[in-house]
Amino acid sequence: MICITCMQHVDSLYTVYSNDHIQLTDCPFCEEIVDKYVEIDNVLLFIDLLLLKPGAYRHLVFNSLELHLSKYPKGKPVNDCQCLLDYTEALVFNIKNWFRKYDRLNRLWLLLLSFEIYLTWVTEESKYIYYLNRNNDDSNLIMLSMKLPESFKWDSTIVRNTITSKVFTWRPPIQYLYFASYCILDVSLFHTLIQYFILKKLHWGRNFASSKDIISYTILLSYGAKIFPILMLIWPYDTLISMSIIKWVANFYIIESLKIVTKLSYWNIIKIFISVALLRYCLVKPTLILCVAKFKLSAIKNLMYQEFMLLLQKSGTYLFL
Ligand SMILES: [Zn+2]
Repeated sequence: MICITCMQHVDSLYTVYSNDHIQLTDCPFCEEIVDKYVEIDNVLLFIDLLLLKPGAYRHLVFNSLELHLSKYPKGKPVNDCQCLLDYTEALVFNIKNWFRKYDRLNRLWLLLLSFEIYLTWVTEESKYIYYLNRNNDDSNLIMLSMKLPESFKWDSTIVRNTITSKVFTWRPPIQYLYFASYCILDVSLFHTLIQYFILKKLHWGRNFASSKDIISYTILLSYGAKIFPILMLIWPYDTLISMSIIKWVANFYIIESLKIVTKLSYWNIIKIFISVALLRYCLVKPTLILCVAKFKLSAIKNLMYQEFMLLLQKSGTYLFL
């Protein structure tokens, strides 16, 4: 348990008296109430999460999560088992325990992922149509500099040979499978790399028992901002620009929530965020290109080249949508 104001460890959040009266504990370090969110209902907690109130995040990822996880037994050590039967029993117990322990979090991840897959599919489709219809001599296309070479100039024929154009020739269930693999790969990479950099590289969380779960839950909560555009699909605001703005807002939510929870400097978090974004860019799409090209070298080379050319043209024309 921690105090949500100064983040010092405390023994309890409240005291229950015999007449069921509850008194919130005062922090011995900062003299504020240790965790006022114990008494606040979920709707107000949700609003405070949206408003990025540090207390709301700390209440959920430290105190509420610790309370929830402490209800379940610890996993059995598998390495100490003497025979195969003991080993299998311990393994089955650990797997069942894991599913029970993380049931709520896994359900939330599943919900987020299904929204993310649908949104990626919709956005990629709108982008593809937009790129195809973009006129090569469009005066709205602003070149960053007139001195840039020809390859930076917009040419919509390049879009017809990219991996996206190939995907949209497939049947819808296969298209869904492609976007599902894309999102699962992307989200797991993002989640694992952020955890790795914060815990292993910056050595954060040594005085917290479940530091891995804390980072994971923080990412899950702030990642929720990424599904805001699902509301925009109901009302006619689903333009590429508004979706792009929401994407940046979601990134801001993730950075700010990691800052609230870890108290690391903005510079460190932004460095991690940029490194993770670069690694995702270099790993996710190339992996899918390998699979779509069925590991044929010439097809891989061609798709990679088209993606690279598209990137050049996008960067040459302010087209970072
Ligand atoms: Zn305090």
